[in-house]
Amino acid sequence: MVTTDNARQLSSCDDARAMLARAREEGVETVWDRLAAQQPQCGFCSLGVSCRNCSMGPCRVDPFGEGPQKGVCGADADIIVARNLGRTIAAGAAAHSDHGRDILEVFAELAKGDTSGYELRDETKLRSLAEEWGIDPDGRPLHEVARDLADSMLEEYGTAKGHLSFADRLPERRSRLWKELGITPRGIDREAVEMLHRTHMGVDNDYVNTLLHGLRTSLADGWGGSMIATELSDVMFGTPQPNVSKVNLGALRPECVNIALHGHNPMLSDVIMQAAEDPELIALAKDKGAEGINLVGLCCTGNELQMRKGIPMAGNHLMQELVLLTGALDAMVVDYQCIMPAVTDVAKCFHTEVISTADKARFAGATHISFDPHRGYAIGKDIVRRGIDAYGNRNPERVHIPGGTVEMMAGFSVEAILEALGGTPGPLVDAIKAGKIRGAVAIVGCNNPKIQQDLGHVTLARRLIENDILVLVTGCSAIANGKAGLMMPAAAELAGPGLKEVCEALGIPPVLHMGSCVDNTRILTLAAALAKYLGTDIDQLPLAGAAPEWYSEKAVSIGTYVVASGIYTVLGVQPAIFGSPNVVKLLAEDLDEVVGAKFAVEPDPERAAVLIRRHIETKREGLGLPFVDPEQLATAEAA
Ligand code: SF4
Ligand code: SF4
Repeated sequence: MVTTDNARQLSSCDDARAMLARAREEGVETVWDRLAAQQPQCGFCSLGVSCRNCSMGPCRVDPFGEGPQKGVCGADADIIVARNLGRTIAAGAAAHSDHGRDILEVFAELAKGDTSGYELRDETKLRSLAEEWGIDPDGRPLHEVARDLADSMLEEYGTAKGHLSFADRLPERRSRLWKELGITPRGIDREAVEMLHRTHMGVDNDYVNTLLHGLRTSLADGWGGSMIATELSDVMFGTPQPNVSKVNLGALRPECVNIALHGHNPMLSDVIMQAAEDPELIALAKDKGAEGINLVGLCCTGNELQMRKGIPMAGNHLMQELVLLTGALDAMVVDYQCIMPAVTDVAKCFHTEVISTADKARFAGATHISFDPHRGYAIGKDIVRRGIDAYGNRNPERVHIPGGTVEMMAGFSVEAILEALGGTPGPLVDAIKAGKIRGAVAIVGCNNPKIQQDLGHVTLARRLIENDILVLVTGCSAIANGKAGLMMPAAAELAGPGLKEVCEALGIPPVLHMGSCVDNTRILTLAAALAKYLGTDIDQLPLAGAAPEWYSEKAVSIGTYVVASGIYTVLGVQPAIFGSPNVVKLLAEDLDEVVGAKFAVEPDPERAAVLIRRHIETKREGLGLPFVDPEQLATAEAA
């Protein structure tokens, strides 16, 4: 059970600590209690050496070499670990890509003029995407261009043409490398389906071959499904531009109807936002005694809204139960991904109505209102009306909203970054060449209750900016760094002198919010553009990735496509591969020879920062730029 004493170790976020104390007082169970109840967790599963892929099993391999070394079918630790990892990648890639398909299907309906509440808001982006996909946009009505683009993108899910269109964004060398390795993704669905086939008993029994296909599967996510999700969301909801918003549970307003939008997909949340501005509903809220309707975001649906509309953020992954404990949330609207089934249990302790909206993501104890883009606006209004009704049941004596809010800047799309740089990557490249910025690191991914909440994200970001490394963030990492105050221009004070000078000149923070988890594709696009500008490949650049507190299958897919794209990546949570020394060696050493990048695992963010700084200086040396000797740097840090 969570206690006041250990609440400090569970989270570095003051809001979370306050709500954990309330959970203890009221006997409400949270994710940390359930993690404690699961101890000790299965050692075989943690090492990845258990298998239940068929009914001759379940099987497990003894990592100490004393018990069985093979499953009933004869699979050894290498095969079992590779199969499990392959399936994890496929699940993550499928989740992102299916999200992309959902956006695409609404886009296709919008192109036909069959939706309510949606518009083609970024005409420039639509026309430039059409050109990129070989569709002539000139002189043609926008809806016609959108229809042709939708048809082409829908084909990519099962494309017969042999490679994904967005892979044309790659520098030539990376493109050639993927072809030589046979990992150019062919179709978005195809690679995930093939991974499920390969990992069926008796198909791919060569762990290297399985994991090469793991790279291909993840690339179908990063350069396929996720990229479609990002680009079309920009077309429909607007390409993000820098805006100042706020974060924390203080974003809830006791005087208003509070509705939280949780999950990943901006389709419904965008129409809910429109509905919350409807005069009829505002009047209804006032009739009930509220001063207005207040929307807040959670997780990546929150990121989508904050990036484009500046909607305040209530919190990241581990805040989803704690926001309910404020007693001030009237409705939690959920779409899909990362929504704990437990939210309906916590909501029952208060007056909050949980409203599920995706037919593929139902929750026991939630009211289900099925999303239909043809009636988007009407459904949005219906949901807001339910929130207003629930407000009538709120007990003001049970409302406790801790603390205030912290300002954070969001909205750094690639377009916005290039605009801030004057239209080309040139000034950024010049700052890197001059050593004012040593390099750039993407810190991405989740919270995980096994790690003190936000500590990994924030410590790593602080150490990197102090050392003149620009930090790009997405997902729950963006929210963690926002809470820590690192995402306003004033945080340039915390950066090293070179990065500080660049941030002050451009009026930007040293930690840039690039969006939701599917928006990691913005980072891929930026990395590819930088490599092309310099006439080199992505793996030559002083870049790195990190996922200090990851938990989800999607994060595994992200990490894999980032490495396969040529970017060294440090994980803060150990993946379930350590039962196979061969697989560990492949991912943490040999992959470097194959794709020019590899994984490292380092739970301590201080040490992770050193690993990343060494890597960046090594890349600078490779490019002939002024560098600090990586070995000296490590020795100095150790001292
Ligand atoms: S596939 Fe092989 S290792 Fe897995 S459960 Fe079946 S028999 Fe056991
Ligand atoms: S970062 Fe992880 S936990 Fe957070 S919303 Fe994305 S996938 Fe979910």
